Amino acid sequence: MHQLTKTDFIQYLNCPESLWLLKNKPNVYPNGEFSLFLEKLIKEGYEVEKYAKQLFANGINIPENASPEFTKGIIDKGGIVLYQPSFSTSKGVFARIDILERLADNTWHIYEVKSSTSIKTDNKHNHLKDACFQKHVLTENGYTVSKVSIIHLNKEYIKQGNIIANELLEVVDITDKLEVLYSNVVNQINAASNFINKETINETECSCKYNTRSNHCDSFNYFNTTIPKYSIYEIGNIRAKKIGQLLDNEQLAIIDIPLDFELNINQQTQVQSVKQEQPIINIPNIRTELNKLKFPLHFIDYETYASAIPKLDGLSPHKHLTFQVSIHTLTEDGTLTHFEYLLDDMKMPIDMLQAMQDFTGSNGTFISWHASFEIGRNKDLIEWLPQFADYLTYINEHTFDLETIFKKDYIDYRFHGSSSIKKVLPVLVPEVTYSDLDVSNGTMALDTWGTMVLDKDFKEDKETTRKNLLEYCKLDTLAMVKLYDVLIQTIN
Ligand code: SF4
Repeated sequence: MHQLTKTDFIQYLNCPESLWLLKNKPNVYPNGEFSLFLEKLIKEGYEVEKYAKQLFANGINIPENASPEFTKGIIDKGGIVLYQPSFSTSKGVFARIDILERLADNTWHIYEVKSSTSIKTDNKHNHLKDACFQKHVLTENGYTVSKVSIIHLNKEYIKQGNIIANELLEVVDITDKLEVLYSNVVNQINAASNFINKETINETECSCKYNTRSNHCDSFNYFNTTIPKYSIYEIGNIRAKKIGQLLDNEQLAIIDIPLDFELNINQQTQVQSVKQEQPIINIPNIRTELNKLKFPLHFIDYETYASAIPKLDGLSPHKHLTFQVSIHTLTEDGTLTHFEYLLDDMKMPIDMLQAMQDFTGSNGTFISWHASFEIGRNKDLIEWLPQFADYLTYINEHTFDLETIFKKDYIDYRFHGSSSIKKVLPVLVPEVTYSDLDVSNGTMALDTWGTMVLDKDFKEDKETTRKNLLEYCKLDTLAMVKLYDVLIQTIN
């Protein structure tokens, strides 16, 4: 019999088939690209829990790998507050509860600790259903749960000096909300247990066949082996309804889409590019856009660090601190110069902004990829460091998003319906590649820098780590310069 944990249950609610695959065929289950990101989430959860425990007196820590029998022993001895007690039902449903408190009438109060700043009730992750799961397992073990609360971060909290747990955290009573959901969730838990213990399921397709790409998980290709290379799922912003219509006509490849099938203009361009096996380029539009840019052109990219628990005075939970910048500046005569800055400590980037301002001045156009991110960081920096407000406002008012060109005016079937720089660059400038770098994406940069400046036992060589971080950010802006060159050559 397979065990069902709360994490499994969340996965089941998102997709039964993917959980079945994980439980029954772990060898073929794809690990996915998000493991570093998930690791960070787990670390954050532990950190928040450390502060949540400070809200209670004399709690008993249950060792991480202790069995449900160990928990029972502690309860039988009269334990009042337990951290991480575990419980299991006869059907193999297993719960580890963040904090459990015995009330005066010998009933129990469950506290679930979350690193978010609100209670999530979306389809992907529903904190209320998580709590129902915990209550169910405890109830099945013969305990009466009279109260359930969620402890989450306070969005308004701003760190000043030592962190005070009851200012950092909010405790929200959700007992009444659970009443409405509870019996339905218990049915879902039973269905999940039954499903993962099925000996076979249909492995030749899964329900996401009728869903858009953003809903697919890493198991999509396992369940759908007949998906062609340039498939209808790659069409930018295609709706599930359209996918359904195409599937019903067995038109799974873009090349099979009939000419009269209704799609928006960008989608039609993509289809045309696939059918003709060549890029579709709107030269007049690109020329108009590029003519608006004023030299010098500053190709700019930030790297940022965000943590659930703020590490710096002035910051709130999950705020992004800009710790690194790379700028390639191109003048009208074709001269290219480079500026870079990487913070060595967890501190406000005052020196970095000053050096940046000295390098670029307030002139020309700033160019980034997916510019809303850089603009958002500049807005945060204006709030924290108002002495740079004029400079950062200039940047925000003179920023051009290079990605927009690849969203509508330069469509190449080899981008597979994406305008991410990681998809565009290998096609247009294959000699510039991220694949040789030790730090090769933003999550890795964040994690590497955070560990380097915060972990007293950091084992790597700091100089090498600095070099790796600088190389990654530098490549991001160099890539933009190269893509800008491609566009200039295209329109001339
Ligand atoms: S692609 Fe969708 S339906 Fe298929 S296994 Fe993944 S989440 Fe489930």
